[in-house]
Amino acid sequence: MGTLGVLGLELVQMDTPPTTAYLQIYTEKRCNANCQFCAQASGSSADMMHIARGMYIPFDLEAVVGRLKIAYERGYLARACIQTALYDTWWEDTVYLIMRIREESQIPISLSVFPLSTGKYDDLRRLGVNELVIPLDACTPGLFDKIKGKTTGGPYSWEKHIEGIKTASLAFEKVGTHLIIGLGESDEDAIKVISDFWNNNVNTALFSYTHIPGTQSKPPYKTESETIRHYRTVQLARHLILEKLAYYSDMRFKDGKLIDYGVYEEVILDIIEDGKAFQTSGCSGCNRPMANETFSKIFNFPKKPADIENEIIKKDLGLIKNI
Ligand code: SF4
Repeated sequence: MGTLGVLGLELVQMDTPPTTAYLQIYTEKRCNANCQFCAQASGSSADMMHIARGMYIPFDLEAVVGRLKIAYERGYLARACIQTALYDTWWEDTVYLIMRIREESQIPISLSVFPLSTGKYDDLRRLGVNELVIPLDACTPGLFDKIKGKTTGGPYSWEKHIEGIKTASLAFEKVGTHLIIGLGESDEDAIKVISDFWNNNVNTALFSYTHIPGTQSKPPYKTESETIRHYRTVQLARHLILEKLAYYSDMRFKDGKLIDYGVYEEVILDIIEDGKAFQTSGCSGCNRPMANETFSKIFNFPKKPADIENEIIKKDLGLIKNI
């Protein structure tokens, strides 16, 4: 919906517009996979026009592609991000959309997709995909199995996803993955997998688990303060690792909970002041405003957090008691 607003195809009031065009390939069929958190999953009864909190409204492809070219040239958009479900003609539809965008514009394209063959990675690179993202979603093999693997009756496995990400890294200069934080993983589970990927040059984009009515997942209940403490901790640790300010091996954990980041508190306060650690992570130019957020709870800030938001972040992390 926000993308349509930026493209001038829908009237949307936004204080922070998306800087990437989020394009979900539309089909009326449900996905052949059965990821428990997903509105489009084969076993879901949720409204198919939602991905997390995002609303994806069907729109004419030619109108979108034409406006995309202008929005990129005028600097409103830095990237186009294509996502697809797994259905019988997903490959033909995806190739067609990429080709149409490339015929009109040089806007960088990210494709978020399940693991593919080496041949398909090569085809996508030649067609003009710049970044390939294979969403792992879960932080451990056990959670993966429960959320989108064999237990769900879907076609995916942890091993094939990890292998797919490795193979994609040989075909693309930039490869990433998505992690949904809040599915029942510990701080340590999330931080370890982020560190392992980064050691292999794979970037992680963090999402906060968002329950959509009609979907099948029921992650373990956590209080609101624990949910946000966990999310902020993982964001901060990710930032330390990516910026080489601390390694996973410098951090200490107790029963899975992070108790020491391996840096002085002044470093953490400087990072909060800078704000980047708590902004949307992933491909460059991706800010995903309101993808997982409500107006009262922001997990990924779509722009530099304001001073008052810095204080909220300190409270979320347990550095101060009251604001
Ligand atoms: S990080 Fe953003 S641009 Fe990249 S694939 Fe994910 S949603 Fe798309």
